[in-house]
Amino acid sequence: MGEGLRLMAVHEHPDDESSKGAATMARYVAQGVDVLVVTCTGGERGSVLNPQLDRPEVWERIADLRRHEMDRAREILGVRQEWLGFVDSGLPEGDPLPPLPPGCFALEDVDVAAERLVRSIREFRPHVVLTYDEDGGYPHPDHIMTHKITMVAFDAAGDPERYPDAGEPWQPLKLYYHMWAKSRWYALHEAMLAEGMESPFTEMLQWLNDRPTKDDRPDGPWFRAPLELQRKVWPTEEYELVRSFVDSPTPEDDLFAGVSERVCA
Ligand SMILES: [Zn+2]
Repeated sequence: MGEGLRLMAVHEHPDDESSKGAATMARYVAQGVDVLVVTCTGGERGSVLNPQLDRPEVWERIADLRRHEMDRAREILGVRQEWLGFVDSGLPEGDPLPPLPPGCFALEDVDVAAERLVRSIREFRPHVVLTYDEDGGYPHPDHIMTHKITMVAFDAAGDPERYPDAGEPWQPLKLYYHMWAKSRWYALHEAMLAEGMESPFTEMLQWLNDRPTKDDRPDGPWFRAPLELQRKVWPTEEYELVRSFVDSPTPEDDLFAGVSERVCA
């Protein structure tokens, strides 16, 4: 059904492919779509959220562990995956915020950094590309940088004048942002409380409520909400269409709407 179709998901760290759009990717893999995850950095400056893993021997091998986690994610999701090779900037914390470490992804020049992604796009030739919005989905400097280079690369990949040394031009047909609707977090929060569970979303909802103008899109402690509950309460993932070279009536229920007809005809 999806033979001949190609989907590229541009993610920042290893783990982002599992918390943002994993079900969507698995669905398309099951339909025969060729799915490639592009991971910008190695996640070298990640945090250890699981207290049981907060041990020196884990910290010493963090880059290796993250590669190992990515291997597992690749197997489970059935996707292909490649690394762009940038260095994780880490999430700056404190007041005032500390400066970003030299050489990290978020300090790279956007147009220079985008060339690696242009090359990937021209090699893989995706019809549809997924990335984060201008806030990065949540305010991590690398997620915002991922957004920036994806926008440049999406617009440049089909133009023979730009990045002439990065392969044969290829124009993907659609670009989407991942979305995280506030109502989804509320629904999960309420459902967990109703089932007598402790909600991991209390703090995040507070944070969302403190941001008056944004209808959110946070990253979050996703994995603590049981899958069964997610299936019951909010069984979909949402995307915002931001670029399209095809006709497809909105709202859509398929990232390849308007594309399948063209590619598979
Ligand atoms: Zn991330």
